[in-house]
Amino acid sequence: MSAFANALTQLETAIAHGTFDPAAVELLRHPRRTLQVSLAVKMDDGSLRVFEGYRVQYNNARGPYKGGLRYHPQTDLDEVQALAFWMSIKCAVVDVPFGGGKGGITVDPKALSKGELERLTRAFTRAIADVIGPERDVPAPDVNTTPEIMGWIMDEYAQLTGNSSPAVVTGKPVALGGSEGRGTATGQGGFFVLQELQKKIGIDPESATVVVQGFGNVGRSFAALCHRHGWQVTGISDSHGGIVSETGLDPEAVAAWKKEHGGVSGFPGSRDVSNAELLEHPCGILAPSALENVITEENAPRIRAQVVLELANGPTTPGADRLLAERGVVVVPDVLANAGGVATSFLEWQQNREGAHWSEHEVFQKLSDIMVPAFRAAWEARERGGGSLRTASYLIALERICAAMKAKGWY
Ligand code: GLU
Repeated sequence: MSAFANALTQLETAIAHGTFDPAAVELLRHPRRTLQVSLAVKMDDGSLRVFEGYRVQYNNARGPYKGGLRYHPQTDLDEVQALAFWMSIKCAVVDVPFGGGKGGITVDPKALSKGELERLTRAFTRAIADVIGPERDVPAPDVNTTPEIMGWIMDEYAQLTGNSSPAVVTGKPVALGGSEGRGTATGQGGFFVLQELQKKIGIDPESATVVVQGFGNVGRSFAALCHRHGWQVTGISDSHGGIVSETGLDPEAVAAWKKEHGGVSGFPGSRDVSNAELLEHPCGILAPSALENVITEENAPRIRAQVVLELANGPTTPGADRLLAERGVVVVPDVLANAGGVATSFLEWQQNREGAHWSEHEVFQKLSDIMVPAFRAAWEARERGGGSLRTASYLIALERICAAMKAKGWY
């Protein structure tokens, strides 16, 4: 299943609901620049291995390219193109002055030593140094990439170019100019969206239950916030399997269990389920928080959630989207639901450029000021247009991107 084909289907669906210049649309069907690099890394045992890396710069009409780096064995050019396209839409949905880009390396980082991971990251930075920069293209964390990795990128870039601006990457350690709150920002942004949605469709946190698929950085912080605010988290999964409990799970305790036992399975007081069963577990809110294409035409008829909150990028295929809409399931799209990460990256970039350092409280206040209006605008556009929340979000984004491309004389 091609993620980029799915992304383009979403684009075509949105376009059919609006009026856009065909030339603008044609530009948006293609990434502006695609860089593929081969990275030679000396392994700890003295052998040499070559890894494939990518950076896709999709659209920069509204500002520097912006988007994370993914280290995953399944990462390929198709996936990175889709992710770069979604970043372009996402930055426009929340109206931060960035375009969209994404990068990745085909690698299982868990199979590398720390030294190997650092050498790989530094080799990748050297390979893309010519096309990134604080005003050009600003990488950030994504699946399996961490603040520490961002610190290595910042350092390698500075050594190579003499430019030691911290604004070349976001999601850095606070010691290097990273923002307070960036680590949990995607979960926090998703939670702001959930709170707004709750006002619109009247979900009662006491009786509505939350199932979180994927227990990495995003899923974990979102689950913890839900729990802290009185929502009942009844299901959690990671790549090995899932757990459910009708009386509710404490995400912090599950995280501690996972750390000790390598996975969430076996958590005391819960029942083990497969990843497929977890997605079909009845709940109020289902938050896919890992990878693409987990809700498909095959399992969509069995999804028993009132709301799908897409904290992952691209978790729902276009076919599944249609089936869920027919059954009245509200899908809050990735480009809105998980935009808290990049919105906080923008706040980090702003702090770096001003030499400022804001408290977590200030950062989350500003994040709320970005997320809440973005959600309300999308909701109102959906009420007016009658389509899905995804199409409404795309229409808002496309208008902004097309206006910028037009003003630049691209068409
Ligand atoms: N990887 C995150 C995303 O998919 C954040 C990107 C960023 O902060 O630039 O939105």
